[in-house]
Amino acid sequence: MLIDTHAHLNDPRLFAQAHDIIGSMKEDNLEALINVGYDYASSKDSYDLAQKYDNVYAAVGIHPHDAKTADKGAYDYFSSASANNKIVAIGEIGLDFYYDHSPRDIQQKVFLEQLELAHSLKLPVIIHLRDAYQLMLNLLIENKQKLAFGGALHCYGGSVEMLREFDKLDLYFSFGGAITFKNAVNKPNVVKATPLDRLLLETDCPYMTPVPHRGKLNYPKYINLVAEKAASFTGLPLQKIEEITTKNAKTLFKKIK
Ligand SMILES: [Zn+2]
Ligand SMILES: [Zn+2]
Repeated sequence: MLIDTHAHLNDPRLFAQAHDIIGSMKEDNLEALINVGYDYASSKDSYDLAQKYDNVYAAVGIHPHDAKTADKGAYDYFSSASANNKIVAIGEIGLDFYYDHSPRDIQQKVFLEQLELAHSLKLPVIIHLRDAYQLMLNLLIENKQKLAFGGALHCYGGSVEMLREFDKLDLYFSFGGAITFKNAVNKPNVVKATPLDRLLLETDCPYMTPVPHRGKLNYPKYINLVAEKAASFTGLPLQKIEEITTKNAKTLFKKIK
């Protein structure tokens, strides 16, 4: 069975359906999922869902879009929440210079503060990255010791060359619906270049809906379409992709049972 390492049932469009979505996980070939926070309120919702359901875990953190909302209250909450055995990572945190919803200097500051926080809490990080690959690489190299508990680049959209640089930092690479898009020209090479022990799968639902459901909401069950695509790109049997990615998810996110 698969693990969706990046879902947002905390999103208002899915929150009301969360109980039913989680209830059908087994028949949807899903062993576990991680709801990822993007601000204080969504992190709290992730935490609450993780307390309610066995196969649901949570990450808490502030997305670069929301970096301007970061404050001590949120960080204090993340610190205390992280003691819980269902909180598997700090995320999603990072840089998004495509949308620039928060000023770039604030994004960078808040990313580094949360990287530091994750390290002090002995947790891995889930990184969101768009249009700031070189800067992120530089920041992570400068702060390599803060990655002692690992990290994943979610919905990795960079080049093969960049992937090789990030790989030197022992990061994981997570792929979602974007690898099924028809215009994803370099995606087969990027997925193929990912070391098999660093490969993760995700949906990022309700965003990033895979083919053939594009234009509609995304759901955790569609991770099966992502797994099939990863199997075809790597030339590995689907069963092998399932085994590898589930094992990798449990290696990085150690609290997943
Ligand atoms: Zn993201
Ligand atoms: Zn996300």
